[in-house]
Amino acid sequence: PKARSKPKSKAPADCVRVRGAREHNLKDVDVDIPRDALVVFTGVSGSGKSSLAFGTLFAEAQRRYLDSISPYARRLIDQAGVPQVDSIEGLPPAVALQQARGTPTARSSVGSLTTISNSLRMLYSRAGDYPRGQEIIYADGFSPNTPAGACPSCHGLGRIYDATEATMVPDRSLTIRERAVAAWPGAWHGQNQRDILTTLGIDVDVPWSKLPKKTRDWILFTDEQPVVPVYPGFDVAEVQRALKRKTEPAYMGTFTGARRHVLHTFANTQSAQQKKRAARYLVGVDCPECHGKRLRREALSVTFAGFDIAEFSQQPLDALATLLAPAAAGRTHAAAHPEQALAAQRIAQDLLARIAVLQDLGLGHLALARATPTLSQGELQRLRLGTQIRSQLFGVVYVMDEPSAGLHPADAQALLRALDQLKAAGNSLFVVEHEIDVIRHADWIVDVGPAAGQHGGQVLYSGVPEGLQRIEASATRRYLFAGHAPIARHGRTPSAWLQLRGIHRHNVQGLDVDIPLGVFTTVSGVSGSGKSSLVSQALVELLTAHFGRERDADEDTPIDPLERGVEAALDGRIEGGLDAVRRLVRVDQKPIGRTPRSNLATYTGLFDHVRKLFAATPAAKRRGYDAGRFSFNVAKGRCSTCEGEGFVSVELLFMPSVYAPCPACHGRRYNAKTLEVTLRDRTIADVLAMTVDEAALFFADDTAVARPLQMLLEVGLGYLRLGQPATEFSGGEAQRIKLASELQRAQRAGTVYVLDEPTTGLHPSDVDTLMRQLQALVDAGSTVIVVEHDMRVAAASDWIIDMGPGAGDAGGQVVVAGTPETVARHRGSRTAPFLAEAMS
Ligand code: ADP
Ligand code: ADP
Ligand code: ZN
Ligand code: ZN
Repeated sequence: PKARSKPKSKAPADCVRVRGAREHNLKDVDVDIPRDALVVFTGVSGSGKSSLAFGTLFAEAQRRYLDSISPYARRLIDQAGVPQVDSIEGLPPAVALQQARGTPTARSSVGSLTTISNSLRMLYSRAGDYPRGQEIIYADGFSPNTPAGACPSCHGLGRIYDATEATMVPDRSLTIRERAVAAWPGAWHGQNQRDILTTLGIDVDVPWSKLPKKTRDWILFTDEQPVVPVYPGFDVAEVQRALKRKTEPAYMGTFTGARRHVLHTFANTQSAQQKKRAARYLVGVDCPECHGKRLRREALSVTFAGFDIAEFSQQPLDALATLLAPAAAGRTHAAAHPEQALAAQRIAQDLLARIAVLQDLGLGHLALARATPTLSQGELQRLRLGTQIRSQLFGVVYVMDEPSAGLHPADAQALLRALDQLKAAGNSLFVVEHEIDVIRHADWIVDVGPAAGQHGGQVLYSGVPEGLQRIEASATRRYLFAGHAPIARHGRTPSAWLQLRGIHRHNVQGLDVDIPLGVFTTVSGVSGSGKSSLVSQALVELLTAHFGRERDADEDTPIDPLERGVEAALDGRIEGGLDAVRRLVRVDQKPIGRTPRSNLATYTGLFDHVRKLFAATPAAKRRGYDAGRFSFNVAKGRCSTCEGEGFVSVELLFMPSVYAPCPACHGRRYNAKTLEVTLRDRTIADVLAMTVDEAALFFADDTAVARPLQMLLEVGLGYLRLGQPATEFSGGEAQRIKLASELQRAQRAGTVYVLDEPTTGLHPSDVDTLMRQLQALVDAGSTVIVVEHDMRVAAASDWIIDMGPGAGDAGGQVVVAGTPETVARHRGSRTAPFLAEAMS
């Protein structure tokens, strides 16, 4: 029998009617959702909000759209899986302002994403100050992405990649024989180069640093490729004798300088492995021609308000608004050029209006040149939102995932105004949110629950906000309608202080700040005030430098080597308190893997023990199956079609690729022989299909497996399946998995935990759970430092460092630091009033 969840308020006739939605954990959901309204989807993390809003509504809208333009796309989508739903009626075309989970952000900048850069180029072309005698440049000529604009020396990249002595010779105390030149190939080729150098009279047995500079430079940087006789194994004197006697050499060898080898390999190799190896020896340096500005000299000679377009794009939007104001008011450009004045005024007015929307959304600290991958998810989404407000689209539904993320409560009103504007223009807004102010502002609430995973997936309530008050089962109700107790306070006193001195990073300039140890600290402040620069970057990098490499969950995620060296300069030191710290751990919301090969069981390490248990069964022993046989990463035991992934990936044009179940093993990952072995009647695939709850019962007597399972239960993840691919975890789930792995290690005092906005994606009730765990770490003798906007978290802290007073250049200072009481009373703090309210 079908357990239909009944809509609790009557939706207007003009609504989206969903029938039988079963995507992920949704339990055959029927729900009517009004159009032309702000609809907020609420519920605990993992309850199924995203599965409904994104996985069903948005996915279906996108499918219909693609279907209407291409039968080919249709076929691919059918293959990849249509959303599991019987029917949806009345669904308008949809725009998602949040990128799908796990897809890397495209290479773009704030300027290109908002298209403000286009208008700016127009402004420079039509209304810029040209040097006397220079011809007008078309707007195109101000773009580094066109041949007309790109600096010819770096092709518009702004950087050139080169190998240096420091990158190619990491250890100067080694001799050439000891492979001082790490950039050369290994094995025979490396030995070949060594023998050639000996023939050329170079001693390969002195430390690299003792060789004359001229010799070192020649070895590394020459483009000459001399061909010389090679006598393997001879030293310099022996080679000289052999040459004199005209002894027949073993062969003729061609020398290749190390940099030439690196650049050639990087440019020409077909092997990703070799390319990666070559890239290790490359660093990016600013292009000497354009100094990193990416444009031709002529384009850079045109100015507006005294800046070339590259400098202009480096200014925060707040500053641009000031610079554009005179032109917008028609106060620039002498009467001699009336048409220029008019152009300047029109374009400047348009730019100002668009910038104002972004400023309103708390983004005034961003510069147009800022690369989008360096933005937080919240900033990125608000940027898209601000761009849409001026897009004049109507009749679409915007689907958003927590637009309040990263936003200080002081800026929340502007967000609500922006949402109202989009609605007033004739659009529908479907928003997944946890922020109480946004939920209160909704026209309609769809509350999903009651709990997570298989314990959720039902619509508990669909209707106007007030009606939720009557819904007993709703976790949201308790937080929405006052009277909920604040998170427990601890009031601890610091055991020591980390004394940070002279910190420089972005807008943090020469800051001295003391961070307490042995307590729970919240770093607050408006978006762009410098919280992340100080904590997630400066503090983390300084501690990392002290301890060596930080323990990071993403250790094996390859970073693009060409991205190295672009980090902003860090200056500063930790003067005291380091003796009290033993290690640093960051717990972030970054995905814990990019392919379905990584999953909960492998990430937490419990799968190793499970495989041993299978290998120890009589059946496995009889067949000679070892633990490796039960790994889907090893050829002998896994399905050969999907190579153990359980999924095959389907590439879609213009869209992220999607994964479809393997047609051979139907997602079970293993071959038939492996699945013949059972442990207490379960195959290894059955185990991967268990939830943590089920597995905890099944493995109750196997301590090595039971312990990590217990930790996962404690962080509230009992509903996840062991084999659930890491690509499916939400940011909040990824964070809790990392936290569970951390809790599972023997509790060690003296750890500093750093978390940047840990409450993102978490329902207030999830936040309560998270806080209990973090406070337990402090109780066990560690330090927790969080960057946070959630005032309930701030109120429950032992110490608060409030950054500001404003964003960008107007921030970067500590406004006030102290106990919540002290900060709440501070007059200059924008956080104070909100904190005071949360504490009352
Ligand atoms: P919410 O948005 O409320 O946090 P989700 O809709 O993201 O919840 O997730 C609901 C459930 O579906 C969770 O148990 C989650 O682990 C699971 N889930 C999420 N994405 C996928 C997926 N791609 N495949 C299978 N299960 C998924
Ligand atoms: P918060 O964490 O308080 O939101 P951030 O530390 O992210 O603030 O930003 C502080 C200032 O530094 C802002 O003006 C921001 O634009 C700038 N900033 C942050 N990251 C970068 C970066 N990668 N490149 C250039 N500027 C940055
Ligand atoms: Zn250049
Ligand atoms: Zn398969």
